[in-house]
Amino acid sequence: MDHFSRNGTSSTPSSTTRVVDVLVPVAIDQAYSYRVPRGMEVAPGDLVTVPLGPREVIAVVWAENPAPDPRLHNRLKDIGEKLDLPPLKDELRTLVDWVANYTLSARGMVMRMSLRMGEQLGPERVRPGVRLTGAPPQRMTPARQRLIAVLSDGLLHGKSDAAKEAGVSAGVVDGLVDERTLTVEPMPRPPPPPPPDPDFAVPDFSRSQRTAVDAMRALASNGTFHVALLDGVTGSGKTEVYFEAVAETIRRGKQALILMPEIVLTGQFRDRFAARFGERPLEWHSELTPRTRARNWAAIAAGEGQVVVGARSALFLPYADLGLIIVDEEHDQAYKQDEGTHYHARDMAVVRAHIAKIPIVLASATPSVESEVNARKGRYQRVALTSRFGGQHMPQIEVIDLRREGPPRGRFISPRLAGEVRAAIERREQALLFLNRRGYAPLTLCRACGHRFACTICDAWLVDHRFRQRLVCHHCGFSMPRPHQCPHCAAEETLVAVGPGVERLQEEAAALFPDARTLVLSSDLVTSIETMRSELNDIAEGRVDIIIGTQLVAKGHHFPRLNLVGVIDADLGLGNGDPRAAERTFQLLNQVIGRTGREQGHGVGYLQTHQPEHPVMRALVASDREAFYASEIEARERSGYPPFGRLASLIISAGDRPTAESFARRLAAIAPIDERIQVLGPAEAPLAVIKGRYRFRLLVKSARGVDLSGYLREWLAAGPKTKGNLKLEIDVDPQSFL
Ligand code: ADP
Ligand code: ZN
Repeated sequence: MDHFSRNGTSSTPSSTTRVVDVLVPVAIDQAYSYRVPRGMEVAPGDLVTVPLGPREVIAVVWAENPAPDPRLHNRLKDIGEKLDLPPLKDELRTLVDWVANYTLSARGMVMRMSLRMGEQLGPERVRPGVRLTGAPPQRMTPARQRLIAVLSDGLLHGKSDAAKEAGVSAGVVDGLVDERTLTVEPMPRPPPPPPPDPDFAVPDFSRSQRTAVDAMRALASNGTFHVALLDGVTGSGKTEVYFEAVAETIRRGKQALILMPEIVLTGQFRDRFAARFGERPLEWHSELTPRTRARNWAAIAAGEGQVVVGARSALFLPYADLGLIIVDEEHDQAYKQDEGTHYHARDMAVVRAHIAKIPIVLASATPSVESEVNARKGRYQRVALTSRFGGQHMPQIEVIDLRREGPPRGRFISPRLAGEVRAAIERREQALLFLNRRGYAPLTLCRACGHRFACTICDAWLVDHRFRQRLVCHHCGFSMPRPHQCPHCAAEETLVAVGPGVERLQEEAAALFPDARTLVLSSDLVTSIETMRSELNDIAEGRVDIIIGTQLVAKGHHFPRLNLVGVIDADLGLGNGDPRAAERTFQLLNQVIGRTGREQGHGVGYLQTHQPEHPVMRALVASDREAFYASEIEARERSGYPPFGRLASLIISAGDRPTAESFARRLAAIAPIDERIQVLGPAEAPLAVIKGRYRFRLLVKSARGVDLSGYLREWLAAGPKTKGNLKLEIDVDPQSFL
């Protein structure tokens, strides 16, 4: 692009050429400068299209550039067009900058999460309609007659609807349009759904709920930044209670966002919401069709979607006027995104609330240690619900000591648990067997030579999946048919399954209780959100006797007839050297047992364990939550683990071991000296190889007040550059230590 040749005078742009910095949705941190074409009005936050290399992308004007680098003038490109969409507000741009800075990810990638509105951003396609206006056609056929009969009311009908109703092809409709019997008119856009009604069905609150309800209403009507920890035992009515904060927000004409850890939860939830507010809320998660996504995005940006329920990515949407955030099951580790931008949606939700100066409610029956400490220190307001709604008792929890009363060899349901399950079924109640392991068996080996089936590109055993009839790697997805012959010693039919997964448990349950209806719920068996939702419905409506499930069933569900949970392996999450293992196990087991006894009868949980004396088991059995938090907080304080100190992990991976290791060593060697910061490692990651990539970890540990992100940025800027297939991932506040 050459200025000289066209105007022949000077390359200096006229003083009216305006330049702005535009953030493009790719993995770069810098905003690029673009010229604003004459006559175009843009301001920071506006969505525009810009040329980027050979492509044209949707991007966001980030800032005015009053003094662009004169050397760039000739090379600057023009903004393509300004899109007819609401601008990203200051508040959201500040959040994007904040998250990028904190997580050390490229700003462009963080912003991209705000622009995930699907491809069909243009105006929605107008549907054609037809109306009977003219004289009958010269030539009448039975098909034409049927169509005219359908349209005889003289009203506008959707073209394809009319054809379908009359049982004719689109060609018949077109024929009558050509003959001027019918005219084509655009169908009016369907009106947006009515907003939720805050007074549609306000429940009667129990006395113990009322204080919490008042707190929720007050926080929503104050409308300023404020964090409340809604700390209520399972079945206490947390949802009904926080709905009052939502109602108050709707009355104030503002939007509310309800974050959920799992998208399968949003189905039952939306019905519950509709029962309270008369309308279903908008939904936001990765499974939406592009069309729904585009429509919901536009409704949210226009302020029409007043309540949004969504997975963590909903946090980055461009709400027109956000007035409240609820984080349900705030302790759930699914809020942490462990790829791309490593962010924790609960923590970033608090950041967004702070930036936007709005209230936020974190709800849980087993708060994260972080939130618990914040509540104890008075930084968060604790709003407690200490008993179940409707006078239901909290479940009772008992230990089954596997060392003394374990099941026979090769089986996993102890005799005592089996007896209790039988009794439950006889009472026409449901039982849940909980095992957080997908598939049939976690390991397959050859009885003749001892060969174990491992993934060829990961440091992991292949998991036997009988439904799919394959051995599968849970880390990379590699799979192979289960062979009949050992690949090592060539013996025939010598392969044996070692250990249980939910599929194997179902086999055992079916053998023990041949008349019971069993159902396995596990994420790998979910073919679609819809089938999952209908299976959850089957359970809720009592069409299943024994549910066998992974953590998918632990969360949030309300199954009225479920009164017994058997935890097949309570120790499963404890032994992996993860600093959060105790917390997680406590939360998960508490939550899954909390599914019982919610409507009538008594809930009971049985923990099959090899270590009944473990503090987690003891706290669960004694229903002594306080004891658990006290010991866990004390341990964290002693070791300087979060929230008393800070952590970040650096994961270095490469296609071969020496490359990864030497890079990790060089990086560690140049870590800036700071007495408040310790750099541990490099050590081989517990999962040493994934998808053929060798992995090393550095763990960075600091005191609480330290700007760890700043430290990392300075360090990495001076460090060796990642080249070739070497990859460096940064995880601030890691949740996973694998
Ligand atoms: P939690 O989320 O605390 O486990 P839920 O909000 O799911 O509890 O409430 C448990 C059950 O009690 C639900 O079926 C809910 O509809 C019912 N419930 C709670 N509070 C009330 C209330 N005030 N009036 C009527 N039903 C209630
Ligand atoms: Zn693998």
